[in-house]
Amino acid sequence: AATPSDSPTIFDKIINKEIPATIVYEDDKVLAFRDIAPQAPTHILLIPKVKDGLTGLSKAEERHSVILGHLLYTAKLVAKQEGLEDGFRIVINDGPSACQSVYHIHVHLLGGRQMNWPPG
Ligand code: 5GP
Repeated sequence: AATPSDSPTIFDKIINKEIPATIVYEDDKVLAFRDIAPQAPTHILLIPKVKDGLTGLSKAEERHSVILGHLLYTAKLVAKQEGLEDGFRIVINDGPSACQSVYHIHVHLLGGRQMNWPPG
């Protein structure tokens, strides 16, 4: 697992199109692409194009409220685009105990199978 830091991550390379990713949605502020190791038939990551110190949700400041809301609203749009009418799950892993591995905030959108609770 990565150590928390504000250094550039693999997601900057995806944003800059330096490494390939299957992008499913993009606007001026967010990028949504398929997870390279999907944990469900649909597994998409939504990230802000500008990190602005937001390595994880625990680093959020008042100024991040707008992008955080936009990430969640975009997750809803992408869920609809992916046909997840029966339901979906949103996850944000924060920090080592939650197995966060990339320190550029990202929302996981998972669906296409029964999502059990509690997640473990
Ligand atoms: P975390 O564990 O930090 O919540 O989630 C990071 C996610 O990023 C993991 O699900 C992992 O599979 C995904 N990931 C890591 N590197 C890459 C990559 O280069 N491309 C894509 N598409 N996903 C990646």
